[in-house]
Amino acid sequence: MVFEGIVISRIPYKERDLIVKVLLRNGHLASFYVYGGMGGGKHHKPSQFEHACMMRVHIKETRNQKVEGSELMVASEYQRIWEPLHLRHNVQAFYLSCLYFEILQKFGMPYKLGLTEDDSHEGHGIFPVMSNALFQMEDALTKEKFIPEQQLSLFMIKLIFHLGIMPDTDHCATCGADLMESIGATFLPANGQFACLQCVTAENEKGFLLRIKKGYQTKYSEYDTLVGSTFRESDKLIQYFCHQFHLKPVELKSYKLLLK
Ligand SMILES: [Zn+2]
Repeated sequence: MVFEGIVISRIPYKERDLIVKVLLRNGHLASFYVYGGMGGGKHHKPSQFEHACMMRVHIKETRNQKVEGSELMVASEYQRIWEPLHLRHNVQAFYLSCLYFEILQKFGMPYKLGLTEDDSHEGHGIFPVMSNALFQMEDALTKEKFIPEQQLSLFMIKLIFHLGIMPDTDHCATCGADLMESIGATFLPANGQFACLQCVTAENEKGFLLRIKKGYQTKYSEYDTLVGSTFRESDKLIQYFCHQFHLKPVELKSYKLLLK
């Protein structure tokens, strides 16, 4: 059996083995046990399983390994298909990808043997959101156009849309007025709704509203057209995501590191 996916975590085990968690193309999270996966040894082999790399992993269906109670598929062969070259050398980009993977693990579904590619929702799944986010972040770093708050905002908008929890950006949650025609609007992360400034006295966030609308229509490859994003805005989207999944933003460790 062959799997393809993105390495979202790698834990050294014993002397040279690795336990890796991978986001599969079908949107599920799978764990693999990789003998000698750390590389090294007599021939100083490099490790193939690095942070955010895309891997192809072959397994022998009959050999499963139990480590600390959880069942892992044992990788028999593997190849690296894609690797980000700049992402690991830019500290903000690295933490941003850590944050993406941390968020993913809050809702990702574990893979169970026997599931086929047909049981997935490829094309609408989380895999395209994540692979695009990493690929375009690498692209931005290569072109020296990397703006972390822009990347994070676009990722959060795509993610919220993918999860089907997009807030209503057309109407005031209280009076139903057309938000585009009202003089101002404000976002209420706890409700996941926008309200017009006639209903709620708060800061005018119409720019944020327009950026959500724009981000939702923007192709990932056109990330640099989403201008004016701020960490304050992406923070509101993260707060909103956390609220929907009953998490506290402080539980996202990489987020705190990113803002330092
Ligand atoms: Zn209103």
